[in-house]
Amino acid sequence: MLYFDHNATSPLHPAARQAWLDATERFIGNPSSLHRVGARADAALSEAREKLASFLGCHALDLVFTSGATESANTVLHHAARMSPPGAEIWLSGIEHPCVTEAARHHFPKLHRLVPVTRDGVADLDWLTKGLKRTRPSLLAMMAVNNETGVVQPTREILALCRAHGVPFFCDAVQTIGKLPAAGLGDCDWVSGSAHKFGGPRGVGFLKCPAKGRVQPLLHGGSQEEARRAGTENVPGVLAMVAALELREGARMPASAAAVSAQAPAADVGVRAALRDAFERQLRRALPGTQIIGKKSPRVWNTTLALMPEADCRTRWVVKLDKLGVAVSTGSACASGKEEPSPVLTAMGYTAAEAARALRFSAGWETTEADWQQLLSALVQAHREMQPVRRK
Ligand code: PLP
Repeated sequence: MLYFDHNATSPLHPAARQAWLDATERFIGNPSSLHRVGARADAALSEAREKLASFLGCHALDLVFTSGATESANTVLHHAARMSPPGAEIWLSGIEHPCVTEAARHHFPKLHRLVPVTRDGVADLDWLTKGLKRTRPSLLAMMAVNNETGVVQPTREILALCRAHGVPFFCDAVQTIGKLPAAGLGDCDWVSGSAHKFGGPRGVGFLKCPAKGRVQPLLHGGSQEEARRAGTENVPGVLAMVAALELREGARMPASAAAVSAQAPAADVGVRAALRDAFERQLRRALPGTQIIGKKSPRVWNTTLALMPEADCRTRWVVKLDKLGVAVSTGSACASGKEEPSPVLTAMGYTAAEAARALRFSAGWETTEADWQQLLSALVQAHREMQPVRRK
Protein backbone atom coordinates (compact mmCIF):
# COMPACT_ATOMS: atom_id res chain seq x y z
CA MET A 1 0.00 0.00 0.00
CA LEU A 2 1.29 3.43 -0.94
CA TYR A 3 0.93 5.65 2.12
CA PHE A 4 0.16 9.34 1.61
CA ASP A 5 -1.44 10.14 4.96
CA HIS A 6 1.53 11.06 7.16
CA ASN A 7 -0.22 14.13 8.56
CA ALA A 8 -2.79 11.79 10.13
CA THR A 9 -0.11 9.49 11.53
CA SER A 10 3.34 8.36 10.49
CA PRO A 11 4.48 4.72 10.71
CA LEU A 12 6.65 3.90 13.71
CA HIS A 13 10.29 4.34 12.69
CA PRO A 14 12.46 1.21 13.29
CA ALA A 15 14.81 3.28 15.51
CA ALA A 16 11.87 4.36 17.68
CA ARG A 17 10.59 0.79 17.83
CA GLN A 18 14.03 -0.40 18.95
CA ALA A 19 14.24 2.36 21.58
CA TRP A 20 10.80 1.31 22.86
CA LEU A 21 11.77 -2.37 23.05
CA ASP A 22 15.08 -1.59 24.79
CA ALA A 23 13.35 0.66 27.32
CA THR A 24 10.71 -1.93 28.22
CA GLU A 25 13.52 -4.37 29.02
CA ARG A 26 15.97 -2.00 30.69
CA PHE A 27 13.71 0.37 32.61
CA ILE A 28 11.17 -1.81 34.34
CA GLY A 29 10.73 0.38 37.41
CA ASN A 30 8.29 3.19 38.11
CA PRO A 31 10.23 6.48 37.88
CA SER A 32 8.61 7.59 41.16
CA SER A 33 9.83 4.53 43.12
CA LEU A 34 12.63 5.12 45.59
CA HIS A 35 14.67 1.98 44.82
CA ARG A 36 17.45 1.83 42.27
CA VAL A 37 15.25 0.21 39.59
CA GLY A 38 12.91 3.20 39.84
CA ALA A 39 15.82 5.64 39.92
CA ARG A 40 17.17 4.15 36.69
CA ALA A 41 13.85 4.73 34.93
CA ASP A 42 13.76 8.26 36.36
CA ALA A 43 17.28 8.96 35.08
CA ALA A 44 16.36 7.73 31.58
CA LEU A 45 13.31 10.00 31.61
CA SER A 46 15.43 12.98 32.70
CA GLU A 47 17.91 12.32 29.93
CA ALA A 48 15.09 12.20 27.35
CA ARG A 49 13.68 15.45 28.78
CA GLU A 50 17.08 17.14 28.44
CA LYS A 51 17.41 16.02 24.82
CA LEU A 52 13.92 17.21 23.88
CA ALA A 53 14.57 20.54 25.62
CA SER A 54 17.80 20.96 23.65
CA PHE A 55 15.91 20.53 20.35
CA LEU A 56 13.20 23.03 21.32
CA GLY A 57 15.52 25.48 23.06
CA CYS A 58 13.96 25.53 26.52
CA HIS A 59 14.67 24.34 30.04
CA ALA A 60 14.11 20.62 30.60
CA LEU A 61 11.87 21.32 33.59
CA ASP A 62 9.50 23.32 31.38
CA LEU A 63 8.53 20.07 29.66
CA VAL A 64 5.64 17.85 30.73
CA PHE A 65 5.17 14.46 29.06
CA THR A 66 1.57 13.76 28.09
CA SER A 67 -0.51 11.20 26.18
CA GLY A 68 -0.40 13.37 23.05
CA ALA A 69 -1.20 16.78 21.66
CA THR A 70 -4.94 16.56 22.40
CA GLU A 71 -4.20 16.25 26.11
CA SER A 72 -1.55 18.98 25.87
CA ALA A 73 -3.96 21.43 24.22
CA ASN A 74 -6.70 20.61 26.71
CA THR A 75 -4.28 21.30 29.57
CA VAL A 76 -3.46 24.75 28.15
CA LEU A 77 -7.12 25.72 27.72
CA HIS A 78 -8.01 24.30 31.14
CA HIS A 79 -5.17 26.30 32.70
CA ALA A 80 -6.25 29.46 30.86
CA ALA A 81 -9.84 29.01 32.05
CA ARG A 82 -8.69 28.69 35.66
CA MET A 83 -6.29 31.63 35.51
CA SER A 84 -8.12 34.16 33.33
CA PRO A 85 -9.82 37.10 35.03
CA PRO A 86 -13.62 37.08 34.67
CA GLY A 87 -14.75 38.28 31.25
CA ALA A 88 -11.29 37.91 29.64
CA GLU A 89 -11.24 36.64 26.07
CA ILE A 90 -8.97 34.10 24.48
CA TRP A 91 -8.06 34.28 20.80
CA LEU A 92 -7.31 31.43 18.44
CA SER A 93 -6.94 31.16 14.71
CA GLY A 94 -9.83 29.92 12.61
CA ILE A 95 -7.66 27.05 11.35
CA GLU A 96 -6.72 25.38 14.65
CA HIS A 97 -7.03 21.64 15.11
CA PRO A 98 -10.30 20.55 16.80
CA CYS A 99 -8.39 19.68 19.99
CA VAL A 100 -7.76 23.43 20.38
CA THR A 101 -11.04 24.72 18.92
CA GLU A 102 -13.29 22.38 20.87
CA ALA A 103 -11.40 22.91 24.15
CA ALA A 104 -11.67 26.68 23.59
CA ARG A 105 -15.43 26.37 22.97
CA HIS A 106 -15.79 24.23 26.08
CA HIS A 107 -13.91 26.51 28.46
CA PHE A 108 -14.71 29.88 26.88
CA PRO A 109 -18.11 29.33 25.21
CA LYS A 110 -18.81 33.03 24.72
CA LEU A 111 -15.35 34.45 25.17
CA HIS A 112 -13.28 33.02 22.34
CA ARG A 113 -12.55 35.03 19.23
CA LEU A 114 -11.26 33.66 15.92
CA VAL A 115 -8.26 35.35 14.34
CA PRO A 116 -8.97 35.49 10.58
CA VAL A 117 -6.73 33.88 7.98
CA THR A 118 -6.08 34.97 4.41
CA ARG A 119 -7.33 33.11 1.32
CA ASP A 120 -3.84 31.57 1.22
CA GLY A 121 -4.23 30.12 4.69
CA VAL A 122 -1.95 32.44 6.68
CA ALA A 123 -2.99 34.16 9.92
CA ASP A 124 -3.88 37.78 9.26
CA LEU A 125 -1.02 39.69 10.93
CA ASP A 126 -2.57 43.11 10.21
CA TRP A 127 -5.76 42.10 12.01
CA LEU A 128 -3.71 40.83 14.95
CA THR A 129 -1.49 43.92 15.11
CA LYS A 130 -4.53 46.22 15.19
CA GLY A 131 -6.59 43.96 17.45
CA LEU A 132 -3.90 43.59 20.10
CA LYS A 133 -3.67 47.38 20.44
CA ARG A 134 -7.30 47.43 21.57
CA THR A 135 -7.76 44.16 23.47
CA ARG A 136 -5.48 42.00 25.58
CA PRO A 137 -6.68 38.38 25.45
CA SER A 138 -5.54 36.08 28.23
CA LEU A 139 -4.21 33.60 25.65
CA LEU A 140 -3.47 33.51 21.93
CA ALA A 141 -3.42 30.08 20.24
CA MET A 142 -1.90 29.73 16.78
CA MET A 143 -0.58 26.54 15.24
CA ALA A 144 2.86 26.45 13.57
CA VAL A 145 1.86 24.44 10.45
CA ASN A 146 -1.67 23.62 9.40
CA ASN A 147 -2.47 19.90 9.23
CA GLU A 148 -4.77 20.22 6.18
CA THR A 149 -2.95 22.73 3.98
CA GLY A 150 0.64 22.42 5.24
CA VAL A 151 0.81 26.23 5.31
CA VAL A 152 3.52 27.52 7.66
CA GLN A 153 2.29 30.26 10.00
CA PRO A 154 4.35 33.35 10.95
CA THR A 155 5.04 32.03 14.45
CA ARG A 156 8.03 34.32 15.18
CA GLU A 157 6.08 37.46 14.24
CA ILE A 158 3.08 36.37 16.31
CA LEU A 159 5.31 35.56 19.28
CA ALA A 160 6.90 39.04 19.01
CA LEU A 161 3.42 40.65 18.97
CA CYS A 162 2.37 38.61 22.00
CA ARG A 163 5.54 39.58 23.86
CA ALA A 164 4.98 43.27 23.06
CA HIS A 165 1.44 43.09 24.50
CA GLY A 166 2.08 40.71 27.40
CA VAL A 167 -0.16 37.97 25.95
CA PRO A 168 0.73 34.29 26.62
CA PHE A 169 1.24 32.44 23.33
CA PHE A 170 0.30 28.79 22.73
CA CYS A 171 1.72 27.16 19.62
CA ASP A 172 0.38 23.78 18.48
CA ALA A 173 3.59 22.56 16.84
CA VAL A 174 2.36 19.05 15.97
CA GLN A 175 2.76 19.38 12.20
CA THR A 176 6.11 21.18 12.20
CA ILE A 177 8.08 19.03 14.65
CA GLY A 178 10.04 16.39 12.75
CA LYS A 179 9.47 18.16 9.41
CA LEU A 180 11.22 21.48 10.07
CA PRO A 181 13.78 22.16 12.83
CA ALA A 182 12.25 22.51 16.30
CA ALA A 183 14.84 25.11 17.38
CA GLY A 184 13.27 28.28 18.73
CA LEU A 185 9.86 26.77 19.49
CA GLY A 186 10.84 26.75 23.16
CA ASP A 187 10.54 30.57 23.17
CA CYS A 188 6.74 30.23 23.02
CA ASP A 189 4.98 30.10 26.38
CA TRP A 190 3.18 26.88 25.55
CA VAL A 191 4.03 24.33 22.83
CA SER A 192 2.36 21.00 22.11
CA GLY A 193 3.86 18.07 20.22
CA SER A 194 2.88 14.51 19.37
CA ALA A 195 5.25 11.57 18.78
CA HIS A 196 3.17 9.71 16.20
CA LYS A 197 3.40 12.55 13.68
CA PHE A 198 7.16 12.11 13.30
CA GLY A 199 7.80 8.38 13.58
CA GLY A 200 7.34 7.90 17.32
CA PRO A 201 4.64 5.78 18.95
CA ARG A 202 1.00 6.81 19.34
CA GLY A 203 -0.29 7.93 22.71
CA VAL A 204 2.72 9.99 23.77
CA GLY A 205 3.50 13.67 23.40
CA PHE A 206 4.54 16.68 25.40
CA LEU A 207 3.64 20.16 26.55
CA LYS A 208 6.20 22.91 26.94
CA CYS A 209 4.98 25.16 29.76
CA PRO A 210 5.92 28.73 30.72
CA ALA A 211 9.29 28.89 32.50
CA LYS A 212 8.87 28.64 36.27
CA GLY A 213 5.12 29.16 35.86
CA ARG A 214 2.69 27.01 37.77
CA VAL A 215 0.31 24.86 35.72
CA GLN A 216 -3.24 24.00 36.67
CA PRO A 217 -3.19 20.25 36.02
CA LEU A 218 -5.85 18.58 33.94
CA LEU A 219 -5.26 15.22 35.63
CA HIS A 220 -5.18 14.86 39.40
CA GLY A 221 -4.03 12.01 41.61
CA GLY A 222 -0.23 12.08 41.62
CA SER A 223 2.69 14.46 41.84
CA GLN A 224 4.43 13.27 38.68
CA GLU A 225 5.84 15.81 36.23
CA GLU A 226 6.32 18.36 39.06
CA ALA A 227 2.62 18.03 39.95
CA ARG A 228 1.62 19.25 36.48
CA ARG A 229 0.32 15.91 35.14
CA ALA A 230 -0.68 13.00 37.37
CA GLY A 231 -0.10 9.42 36.20
CA THR A 232 2.85 7.07 35.84
CA GLU A 233 5.08 8.29 33.03
CA ASN A 234 5.23 6.26 29.82
CA VAL A 235 9.02 5.77 29.89
CA PRO A 236 9.34 3.53 26.78
CA GLY A 237 6.98 5.82 24.84
CA VAL A 238 8.94 8.94 25.78
CA LEU A 239 12.29 7.35 24.94
CA ALA A 240 10.96 6.16 21.58
CA MET A 241 9.54 9.65 20.86
CA VAL A 242 12.89 11.29 21.54
CA ALA A 243 14.73 8.65 19.46
CA ALA A 244 12.43 9.44 16.51
CA LEU A 245 12.95 13.18 16.90
CA GLU A 246 16.74 12.79 17.13
CA LEU A 247 16.58 11.02 13.81
CA ARG A 248 14.37 13.64 12.18
CA GLU A 249 16.45 16.51 13.54
CA GLY A 250 19.51 14.78 12.10
CA ALA A 251 17.98 14.93 8.62
CA ARG A 252 18.93 18.05 6.72
CA MET A 253 16.24 20.64 7.28
CA PRO A 254 16.17 24.24 6.06
CA ALA A 255 16.97 27.01 8.52
CA SER A 256 13.67 28.77 7.89
CA ALA A 257 10.22 28.27 6.46
CA ALA A 258 11.06 30.73 3.68
CA ALA A 259 13.46 28.15 2.26
CA VAL A 260 10.65 25.65 1.79
CA SER A 261 9.99 26.25 -1.86
CA ALA A 262 10.70 24.72 -5.21
CA GLN A 263 13.81 26.89 -5.39
CA ALA A 264 15.23 25.53 -2.13
CA PRO A 265 18.82 24.31 -2.26
CA ALA A 266 19.48 20.65 -2.87
CA ALA A 267 19.23 19.82 0.81
CA ASP A 268 17.05 16.85 1.77
CA VAL A 269 14.04 19.05 2.37
CA GLY A 270 14.61 21.03 -0.81
CA VAL A 271 14.67 17.84 -2.85
CA ARG A 272 11.50 16.64 -1.17
CA ALA A 273 9.71 19.95 -1.72
CA ALA A 274 10.75 19.80 -5.37
CA LEU A 275 9.25 16.31 -5.73
CA ARG A 276 5.97 17.50 -4.24
CA ASP A 277 5.95 20.61 -6.45
CA ALA A 278 6.63 18.53 -9.57
CA PHE A 279 3.73 16.26 -8.61
CA GLU A 280 1.44 19.27 -8.26
CA ARG A 281 2.43 20.60 -11.70
CA GLN A 282 1.84 17.20 -13.30
CA LEU A 283 -1.46 16.74 -11.48
CA ARG A 284 -2.80 20.07 -12.73
CA ARG A 285 -1.73 19.16 -16.25
CA ALA A 286 -3.21 15.65 -16.11
CA LEU A 287 -6.49 16.68 -14.45
CA PRO A 288 -7.38 20.21 -15.59
CA GLY A 289 -9.51 22.02 -13.04
CA THR A 290 -7.42 20.81 -10.11
CA GLN A 291 -6.54 23.62 -7.73
CA ILE A 292 -3.73 23.58 -5.15
CA ILE A 293 -4.68 25.23 -1.86
CA GLY A 294 -2.22 27.61 -0.17
CA LYS A 295 0.14 27.49 -3.14
CA LYS A 296 1.24 31.11 -2.72
CA SER A 297 2.19 30.62 0.94
CA PRO A 298 5.24 28.95 2.46
CA ARG A 299 4.25 25.33 2.93
CA VAL A 300 5.85 22.41 4.66
CA TRP A 301 7.54 20.10 2.14
CA ASN A 302 5.30 17.05 2.51
CA THR A 303 1.72 18.31 2.05
CA THR A 304 -0.55 18.95 -0.93
CA LEU A 305 -4.18 19.92 -0.43
CA ALA A 306 -5.94 19.85 -3.78
CA LEU A 307 -9.44 20.74 -4.90
CA MET A 308 -10.09 17.93 -7.37
CA PRO A 309 -12.12 18.28 -10.57
CA GLU A 310 -15.78 17.59 -9.93
CA ALA A 311 -15.76 13.88 -10.72
CA ASP A 312 -17.48 12.66 -7.61
CA CYS A 313 -17.60 13.31 -3.86
CA ARG A 314 -14.24 13.26 -2.13
CA THR A 315 -14.97 10.23 0.02
CA ARG A 316 -15.48 8.28 -3.24
CA TRP A 317 -12.05 9.46 -4.34
CA VAL A 318 -10.57 8.08 -1.10
CA VAL A 319 -12.37 4.74 -1.52
CA LYS A 320 -11.37 4.45 -5.19
CA LEU A 321 -7.75 5.28 -4.42
CA ASP A 322 -7.78 2.79 -1.55
CA LYS A 323 -8.85 0.09 -4.00
CA LEU A 324 -5.99 1.12 -6.25
CA GLY A 325 -3.58 0.67 -3.31
CA VAL A 326 -3.08 4.30 -2.26
CA ALA A 327 -4.01 5.75 1.15
CA VAL A 328 -4.93 9.45 1.06
CA SER A 329 -7.18 11.67 3.15
CA THR A 330 -9.94 14.20 2.76
CA GLY A 331 -7.90 16.42 5.08
CA SER A 332 -10.54 17.09 7.67
CA ALA A 333 -12.43 14.63 9.81
CA CYS A 334 -16.06 13.88 9.05
CA ALA A 335 -18.15 15.07 11.99
CA SER A 336 -20.46 12.27 13.17
CA GLY A 337 -20.37 10.57 9.79
CA LYS A 338 -21.85 13.64 8.10
CA GLU A 339 -19.88 15.55 5.51
CA GLU A 340 -19.29 18.95 7.11
CA PRO A 341 -17.22 21.48 5.19
CA SER A 342 -13.71 21.74 6.63
CA PRO A 343 -13.59 24.66 9.12
CA VAL A 344 -10.07 25.34 7.83
CA LEU A 345 -11.23 25.81 4.23
CA THR A 346 -14.28 27.75 5.43
CA ALA A 347 -11.99 30.09 7.40
CA MET A 348 -9.92 30.55 4.22
CA GLY A 349 -13.05 31.66 2.35
CA TYR A 350 -13.77 28.51 0.33
CA THR A 351 -17.41 27.54 -0.21
CA ALA A 352 -18.89 24.25 1.04
CA ALA A 353 -19.03 23.02 -2.58
CA GLU A 354 -15.32 23.77 -3.05
CA ALA A 355 -14.38 22.22 0.29
CA ALA A 356 -16.25 19.06 -0.73
CA ARG A 357 -13.64 18.55 -3.49
CA ALA A 358 -10.61 18.63 -1.17
CA LEU A 359 -8.13 15.76 -1.03
CA ARG A 360 -4.93 15.77 1.03
CA PHE A 361 -1.73 13.98 0.07
CA SER A 362 0.88 13.99 2.84
CA ALA A 363 4.23 12.30 2.29
CA GLY A 364 6.88 11.09 4.73
CA TRP A 365 10.67 11.23 4.80
CA GLU A 366 10.85 7.88 3.05
CA THR A 367 8.49 8.83 0.18
CA THR A 368 10.30 8.62 -3.17
CA GLU A 369 9.81 10.21 -6.59
CA ALA A 370 8.44 6.86 -7.81
CA ASP A 371 5.81 6.97 -5.03
CA TRP A 372 4.65 10.44 -6.16
CA GLN A 373 4.48 9.14 -9.75
CA GLN A 374 2.41 6.15 -8.64
CA LEU A 375 0.05 8.46 -6.75
CA LEU A 376 -0.37 10.56 -9.89
CA SER A 377 -1.15 7.49 -12.04
CA ALA A 378 -3.67 6.27 -9.45
CA LEU A 379 -5.41 9.67 -9.42
CA VAL A 380 -5.65 9.70 -13.21
CA GLN A 381 -7.04 6.16 -13.23
CA ALA A 382 -9.53 6.89 -10.43
CA HIS A 383 -10.69 9.99 -12.29
CA ARG A 384 -11.17 7.98 -15.47
CA GLU A 385 -13.16 5.31 -13.64
CA MET A 386 -15.41 7.91 -12.04
CA GLN A 387 -16.47 9.47 -15.34
CA PRO A 388 -20.09 8.70 -16.26
CA VAL A 389 -20.33 5.98 -18.96
CA ARG A 390 -21.12 7.67 -22.30
CA ARG A 391 -23.77 6.07 -24.51
CA LYS A 392 -22.82 5.53 -28.13
N1 PLP B 1 -2.80 19.26 16.45
C1 PLP B 1 -2.63 19.02 15.14
C2 PLP B 1 -2.24 20.15 14.23
C3 PLP B 1 -2.82 17.73 14.63
O1 PLP B 1 -2.65 17.50 13.31
C4 PLP B 1 -3.20 16.70 15.53
C5 PLP B 1 -3.47 15.33 15.02
O2 PLP B 1 -4.05 15.14 13.97
C6 PLP B 1 -3.35 16.99 16.88
C7 PLP B 1 -3.14 18.29 17.31
C8 PLP B 1 -3.74 15.93 17.89
O3 PLP B 1 -2.65 15.12 18.19
P1 PLP B 1 -2.78 13.74 19.01
O4 PLP B 1 -3.12 12.69 18.03
O5 PLP B 1 -1.43 13.55 19.61
O6 PLP B 1 -3.80 13.94 20.07
